Amino acid sequence: MTKPMEVRNPRTGKFDYVIIPPPPRLLAQQCNRARRSQPRWLQLGVEGRITALQQWKQAIISKREQLTEALVNDTGRLSISVLEIDSFLASIDRWCGLAPELLQESAKNTSIPFIALQQTAVPYSLVGVISPWNFPLLLSMIDTIPALIAGCAVIVKPSEIAPRFVAPLLTALNTVPELREVLVFLEGGGETGAALIECLDLVCFTGSVSTGREVAQEAARLFIPAYLELGGKDPAIVLESANLELATSAILWGAVVNTGQSCLSIERIYVAESIFEDFYHKLVAKAHRLQLAYPTVEDGAIGPIIAERQAGIINDHILDAVEKGAVIHCGGKVEELGGGWWCRPTVLTQVNHSMKVMTEETFGPIMPVMPFPTVEEAIYLANDSIYGLSAAVFAGSEAEALTVARQLNAGAISINDAGLTAMMHEGEKNAFKFSGMGGSRMGASGLKRFLRKQAFLIKTNSNHDPWWFE
Ligand code: NAD
Repeated sequence: MTKPMEVRNPRTGKFDYVIIPPPPRLLAQQCNRARRSQPRWLQLGVEGRITALQQWKQAIISKREQLTEALVNDTGRLSISVLEIDSFLASIDRWCGLAPELLQESAKNTSIPFIALQQTAVPYSLVGVISPWNFPLLLSMIDTIPALIAGCAVIVKPSEIAPRFVAPLLTALNTVPELREVLVFLEGGGETGAALIECLDLVCFTGSVSTGREVAQEAARLFIPAYLELGGKDPAIVLESANLELATSAILWGAVVNTGQSCLSIERIYVAESIFEDFYHKLVAKAHRLQLAYPTVEDGAIGPIIAERQAGIINDHILDAVEKGAVIHCGGKVEELGGGWWCRPTVLTQVNHSMKVMTEETFGPIMPVMPFPTVEEAIYLANDSIYGLSAAVFAGSEAEALTVARQLNAGAISINDAGLTAMMHEGEKNAFKFSGMGGSRMGASGLKRFLRKQAFLIKTNSNHDPWWFE
């Protein structure tokens, strides 16, 4: 037997939930069963798979209350949990709408008149999805839904820090027999994740750079593709011509939404020297108005820090910055309230790149603001990072912002806004540097990367081919 794992509630600090990781033999059996069921799932055709996913969606809607409650217990926040559920349900509809066209086979003429080409694509049989705790539902499903529609069987291993949301999904899944055979959820931590990879044909991993590196090494050993969506330290650049009202509102949202526990949080802000004071005064005034969602979950916009270890990292980054000369204008500490860990939106100035808060992923509602003398310096500072997930540029004109944006080493750059990849899904993007690897999870390739292209090259006449031996 494997050891049960206790799960902490982020609002109360109490360990009030238990998960039981599967013993290695059971894990292997579950994977084998899903793999054996995959051909039947594929034979259903895209329309059959859409019907099954829509049935699951309806069953989830009927369990919405339980799902919301579970997610609130997982994460301690309400409005973002509602948003997660809505986005997840919308993603089922979106992929169901797109899939029939994306999965169409095509027939083509070729450069050789007597050879025709039929182009098709074959899904990977067994895909694994290993996900983090910050958006537990959304990030366990973001790759799962397109993989299922493509015809793969999927094993999901959600984070051990926020696993309660799985139970209502499973209850709903039990009403859809075809889907239940090819969609499996595993409970467990890193060991379970590592054991899962052994059984897969493709792994989708969302999480930290350090774990991502281990996953990539294991995938390389097994010779399977690894799609890695990892950490970030997203910069925002605010040029002299920017609308400060707009920039401060967008950056505040981009930095603080979900208490900053988002891979694409704005974590460093570079502002033109001439507008620096105005900018941070406005930002501080707006940050002050945000309240903690405490004592009740309905209270304010800022939920608790979900993972206890993250509270330590946020605290360490603030202390390190202050020790090296940073000034705190609001927030500035990790507080314990009712057993949970909390941090109010924090604005720091007098920061530089010797500080962890400017170079390492903080994953908290921290906004370090640094002035820049020239646009070249701003671009240099924004690119001075091991990360390259996304970024934001604010300027008086789209053209001016785009000129700067084109020089940034990041996969998605919001112009005069922040964190737009969280809100729309069409923009294909690859992570730069240590922020990830593999095909874009956004746009059409979010589905196509679960397929291997296959070509049928068909001779259409019975003549002697010119290149054959006489
Ligand atoms: P983590 O790397 O600690 O864990 C992620 C998942 O990996 C968990 O399910 C965990 O159990 C599992 N795991 C741990 N060790 C493993 C191993 N050796 N083999 C296989 N699986 C293993 O990350 P976390 O703390 O849960 O999440 C926070 C991180 O995720 C942050 O760095 C954040 O930036 C990143 N993230 C990235 C994106 C993105 O799209 N780029 C989105 C959200 C979060």
